[in-house]
Amino acid sequence: MAKAFFGGVHPNDRKAATNEKAIEQLAPPAQVVIPMSMHFGAPCTPLVQKGDHVKIGQKIGEFKGLGAPIHASVSGTVAAVEPRPYSMGGKITSVVIDNDFLDEISEEVQAPADPDALSVEEMVEIVKNAGIVGMGGATFPTHVKISGGIGQVKTVIINGAECEPYITGDHRAMLERPEEIIGGCCYLAKMFGVEKVIIGVEDNKQNGIDALNKVIAEQKAPVVVQPLRCRYPQGGEKQLCQAITGKQVPPGGLPSAIGCAVFNINTTCAIYRAITTGMPVVRKVVTVSGSGVVEPKNLECPIGTPVSLLFDACGGLKDTTFKLIAGGPMMGMAQYSADIPVAKGTGAMLAFAEDEDKTVENPTCIRCGRCVEACPMHLEPLYLYLYEQKNLIEELEAAHIMDCIECGACAYICPGRLHLTHTFKVGKQKVKDAAAKKKAAEAAAKAAAEAEKKEA
Ligand code: SF4
Ligand code: SF4
Repeated sequence: MAKAFFGGVHPNDRKAATNEKAIEQLAPPAQVVIPMSMHFGAPCTPLVQKGDHVKIGQKIGEFKGLGAPIHASVSGTVAAVEPRPYSMGGKITSVVIDNDFLDEISEEVQAPADPDALSVEEMVEIVKNAGIVGMGGATFPTHVKISGGIGQVKTVIINGAECEPYITGDHRAMLERPEEIIGGCCYLAKMFGVEKVIIGVEDNKQNGIDALNKVIAEQKAPVVVQPLRCRYPQGGEKQLCQAITGKQVPPGGLPSAIGCAVFNINTTCAIYRAITTGMPVVRKVVTVSGSGVVEPKNLECPIGTPVSLLFDACGGLKDTTFKLIAGGPMMGMAQYSADIPVAKGTGAMLAFAEDEDKTVENPTCIRCGRCVEACPMHLEPLYLYLYEQKNLIEELEAAHIMDCIECGACAYICPGRLHLTHTFKVGKQKVKDAAAKKKAAEAAAKAAAEAEKKEA
């Protein structure tokens, strides 16, 4: 039986534009721009400089602390190492590579002699060296999630919900690459020492569920597919855990707090490819869609490909296009231009034409309470909005703004058209800044007291 979670909304999924279109390979770009920050954690340090020759799969960025390495996605010559615009806003140090179109593979890319004979430690090391991060957009380093969960995690869940409207990359992977998904699940089962892995898929992807079940039966794989009721944000980690296990992740906690670990469908494919072929993350499937795109498509391209080339491959943008979004319409980030590169977390690039502009001049709360009903985190968005507008930081924190997963369900349902999600992003930053300021003041006071003691 299909399962569900608390709250949520039912947006039109708008997936029909691309869900029957096979993943197309984009013609190789003449130049890629690879940002040194494509993961949760500190940016990588570039390992190459202008003039260096690089090959596909060669490590070009090294991480320190929490992070994941970054690799060249084409072979060629490094044209520059300099700040370039990227999808998170502003500029970030990037490695610019002129493609020589020779497609030379780096000697660093080595397939294990027998992938099935690898130890758990060896598999985790491969995942780390392959630079795998949450490919659904969260970009949390996968090796950290695995190594931190071994021994604690009893339920491994693959996120096949793909609940954001328009995006169809995971659905197409289920139809076109089910062997990679099931293979990745088997390696995850081995790494966590669990008897089975559960793939949660919304029940609007029945052909995807059938394709996965066929491979599971053929391979007698320790994997089950759990159909889920179609409701946004079913693909939120916490919502998925609740729908599958019936348990709720505690406020401020992670899925590991209830013994769960969640991996995206395309992350699972990346794990399979890294363990069987040694190839790190150098390519990405991106859904290019929205009313501003002439011919929406699912495209696969090297990491670092300029987004403008993706739009060109889809017939270009319509003249009436007024908005670009990196990611889905609910959680994605609006972009000033298409002069940004595809990164590891880029699942979609959307363009919207003028007639879809729903912004109003004076957004007003009419106290209808619909946002409260919709919030999957049991928050009261109307009060969070009020507190942020009045700069009431303590009240914001007491109202659990830090538990907001920025899913956008409240903003979607709000008849007053308030900019709720954006306001909560700002509000969360204000709470973080206030906490940092308080900590710094406490440290300064402690240092002053100690200095006074010494002088006395
Ligand atoms: S849905 Fe919008 S208008 Fe209704 S209570 Fe919430 S913030 Fe106010
Ligand atoms: S954006 Fe935050 S407040 Fe709004 S529904 Fe999602 S979790 Fe709740």
